[in-house]
Amino acid sequence: MVALADVFRRFADDYLSRHGASVLPSHRRAIADILACRTHALGGHLWRCNHCSSEVYSYHSCKNRSCPRCHKDQTERWIAARETELLACPYFHVTVTVPAELREGCAPTSATATPRS
Ligand SMILES: [Zn+2]
Repeated sequence: MVALADVFRRFADDYLSRHGASVLPSHRRAIADILACRTHALGGHLWRCNHCSSEVYSYHSCKNRSCPRCHKDQTERWIAARETELLACPYFHVTVTVPAELREGCAPTSATATPRS
């Protein structure tokens, strides 16, 4: 599987040189954070086993909210929680925008349905 950081390593410099003036600072920060995530750029910790003295070095994560590597576990928990809400039959979800003139006739019929304004 290709990681987002690999895509950024390959294309970010070219992309930013072409479109950098219009890239939001928060997006630049996300790219920089994702590129640095779990690399020597952010440092790390050396873990040593108290029993066998074996050592493992682990790099620090960036903790950027847009980093898929940092939020993989959180995303998987969210997906697992949503999967518990699925109906036990084949179905699909459709979202439509009802013209304002017709909305009054499309009032929600259950307590969980909410019209969007
Ligand atoms: Zn990260």
